[in-house]
Amino acid sequence: MKICDLHCDTLFEIRKKQEGLVDHSGHISLDKLDSYDSFIQVMAMWSENKLTCDANYDAFLDASDILKRELADAESKGYKVRLAKSGEDILKNEKDGCSTVVFAVEGAKLLDNRIARLEMLYSLGVRILTLVWAGECPMGGAHDNDIGFTEFGLEVVKRCFELGIIPDVSHSNERQISQVLELASAYSKPVIASHSNSKSVHKHSRNLTDEHYKEIVRLGGVAGVSMACEHLAEKNADISDIVRHIMHYREIDPKGVCLGCDFDGVTNLPRGVKDVTSLRILASELAKSGLDSREIQNIMYNNARELLIKHLGKR
Ligand SMILES: [Zn+2]
Repeated sequence: MKICDLHCDTLFEIRKKQEGLVDHSGHISLDKLDSYDSFIQVMAMWSENKLTCDANYDAFLDASDILKRELADAESKGYKVRLAKSGEDILKNEKDGCSTVVFAVEGAKLLDNRIARLEMLYSLGVRILTLVWAGECPMGGAHDNDIGFTEFGLEVVKRCFELGIIPDVSHSNERQISQVLELASAYSKPVIASHSNSKSVHKHSRNLTDEHYKEIVRLGGVAGVSMACEHLAEKNADISDIVRHIMHYREIDPKGVCLGCDFDGVTNLPRGVKDVTSLRILASELAKSGLDSREIQNIMYNNARELLIKHLGKR
């Protein structure tokens, strides 16, 4: 089985805990990912609300060094995994029998009204940017309020399209998602919701409306279903709730549904999920729900992989 997961906070966690990527004690480590035939794992560095813009930027620069050092260390230990900055890189990795890590940033507070910092993110290999996280920052509001993007926030989205960074609307509010989709349409570029469940299945400010999901997919993007209990169900979330969100997205448009697990970012996992190795249990639950192996592989791997192959790093 192959997996492609659009969001985790493992990089943030290994920096905080001063652990290594190979044997990290959390939900994701290279050892755990290696239980799959191959993987594409997006790893995000999170901008914390409680830190200043500058402190977040410094933390990001440090995390960027850590990621590269950890991947080099893994390679020296015989792990077949490399960073990809483009769709071509992923294809080359596959040809060489290597799995892929994609570098992302969650929350653009670290930019602090300076577009030059976005260019620095790009030059350091960042290819996916979750635009906001919570509260307010120079980018604008977030899912927990009704404030749209500022002029600067909209400029960041446009510059992402020009540079070849995929904007991610997870954590944005409905007004902001509409703003980004309008720009995406004008630029003929896709947008993703890396880790956002369905609002029709469970009403939560972090989840997507059916209309937004439909429009994201129409523009060539995808939405990753996450393992955050509070975004899955009112209470006592388990694997069947993950399946319900997947089945709902699939019913609207099967091309757009993928994984955005949020491993190492969520404190409580749904019953039946232990860590990234549990995704094979999810696959068997999807089979029990009547999906054939081709469709399951599309959800677990192909849909998100195709988006990355086509659009990662493309100007
Ligand atoms: Zn998140």
